[in-house]
Parts: sequence; structure tokens; C-alpha cells
Amino acid sequence: MKTGISYFGVRNPKWVRKDMRAIKEAGFDYVLHTFSEADLQYYPQTMKEIIALSKEEGLGVYTNPWGVGRVFGGEAYSELTARNKEMGQISLDGEALIAACPNSKGFREYMQKWIKNVCESEVETIFWDEPHFYFEKNKTVSACRCSVCSKLYREQTGEEIPETLSEKFNAFRQRSLVSFLSFVTEEVHKFGKRNSVCLLPPWFPAGLENWDEVAALPCVDEIGSDPYWEKGDALERVQKIYGETSVRIADLAKKYGKEAQMWVKNYHIEAGTEHFIKEATEISVNAGITNIFAWSYLGSKYMDWLRSDNPELVWETQIKALSLAKAHFIHYNYATNCK
Ligand SMILES: [Zn+2]
Repeated sequence: MKTGISYFGVRNPKWVRKDMRAIKEAGFDYVLHTFSEADLQYYPQTMKEIIALSKEEGLGVYTNPWGVGRVFGGEAYSELTARNKEMGQISLDGEALIAACPNSKGFREYMQKWIKNVCESEVETIFWDEPHFYFEKNKTVSACRCSVCSKLYREQTGEEIPETLSEKFNAFRQRSLVSFLSFVTEEVHKFGKRNSVCLLPPWFPAGLENWDEVAALPCVDEIGSDPYWEKGDALERVQKIYGETSVRIADLAKKYGKEAQMWVKNYHIEAGTEHFIKEATEISVNAGITNIFAWSYLGSKYMDWLRSDNPELVWETQIKALSLAKAHFIHYNYATNCK
């Protein structure tokens, strides 16, 4: 069984090492180090050092393009489209957005540079976190109709790109994201590293509705999701979304011969709901998923925007839930092997 936690915000190797020891002592086998545009520009060697020392402390390492181009999830700023306006997504009603277009040649070249740098480190797995077209919560913004997308859409459908959402346009966005993932995952395999893709849950208007096409990509090694609950949600909602998503991921992984992964929410946890973490972990493991990660270290205590009400309790609850899951898994394996 694999257990991991995400880690960000500290770039002094001396303090990172202390935290990596604490993560290992808490029972985790993996850490995910975020790797933003700022990391690539200002900390490329420090990041290699951080990844190497994490390995020395006995942890496997995942790395994600944190908020890069705003095509991926994360609380990191992106200045790519401010510097390279031609890379930017354009909404269906013509607004220039602060996200790069997955179809843009310039953005793909930037991703090649990111991949080369990251893969020169001792990282094992590149984590493609929530690839999506630009959207905003509680506001309808749909993209993209930039010049590249407009040309591609014309070539693929023989029609002009629409100004409102349609089934055909959604299919175009699906094709675009699958093509982008196919490109980046192939690049990663050239360096002998693994690819894990984390899909946004289906209630986000992200552009990737058909998960089979992602799981089927030859260079995708691992497929997962992060169906996080919202503040105010009841336990029943957690049970429903983790139940449905973990079964869907487990089935996909089995069908395409990939590894399955589930993410448990460890941020914005309201006081009194810490047990949702245990529930989400158990549901995922019971669906047969033996690769469980959580976002993020110490209940996200040190980023106040994400902080849980009782971050220490969140951290302890996650550690206990994973330790129980591991014990259950070992027992199950032992029992199965003895039959
Ligand atoms: Zn575009």
C-alpha cells in the first residue's frame, strides 16, 4: 500500500528535511512536492536538492506542475499568459483569461521545459493535477476560442467555433485535453518517470468528461481523483461522492491495467467533521484502492487560506486512518495468500 502527503511553501532544505523526517515518522511512504512556475524560474536547483533529500529520508517523491499556466490545480500564481499573451485562453464571449491554452504550441514548449527540468531530479512520478480548461466557481466562464482552438475546431468539424457551450464544443475540449495529456505523458516517459493523472470530479465544468480516454492513454501509469467535499456538507454527501468516485477509479484502473489513486481532503476541515477523513479513507480502501494521498501536510496549517479549524486533529486523524488501512491491507493480503 502507498500513502502520501502533499507539501509546499518551504524552500529551505534544512527545514524541509525536518518535515520529511516527521512525514516519514508519521507513517507516510511518499511526499508530493509542488513545483510551480516560480520554482522552475527561481528554485530549480533547490528543488532538486529538496527532492533528493526527501529520498534520503526514505520517501518516494511525486511532483506536480502546481498552478502552472492555471491549467492545473493549485494556489500558485501564474504569469505565463501575462508574459506570453498569445498562449492565453479566450472565453466563449471573447474575454482574455489568465490561463494558458492546452492547445497552444508555446505552452506545450513551456511544459517540455518544465518536464525536462523536473525529470532531471530524482522524482519518481509526475502528478498531472486536475487538468482543465478555465472555469470559475459560481460563475459561468467557458473556454477556449483562442486563435489556435478556432483553427483546430474548424479543421476537426468543418464549422466555426461556437460562442456558447454545446455538445460539439464539449467534445472538442475533451479531445484537446486528451491530446495535451498524451503529449506531456509521452515526454515524461522519455525520461523514464511515471505519470499519474488526477481527474477533477464530474461536478466541475472542466472539459474532461470521458475518463476512459485518459485512462487508456499508453503513457498514463496511474489514474485518480479528488472528490473533495465542501464546507457544510453532511457525512452522507462524503459517503456518496467518495463511494461513487473510488469505485469509478478502481474500475477504470482495472479495465486499462493502471494503478488507482484517491486523494483525501485535509484542508478547510471544519471543527467536528474530522471523522469525514477516516470515512473517505476507508471508503477508498474498501473500493480496492491501495494508493491514498492527502492534501496537505499538517491539516494545511501553514497556509491560512486552506487551514483547517483544528489542523493538528486533521493530521492525527489522517495518520490513524491510513495506519488502520495499512493494517487491514496487510491482514487481507495475508489471509488471501494463505487460502
Ligand atoms: Zn485555445
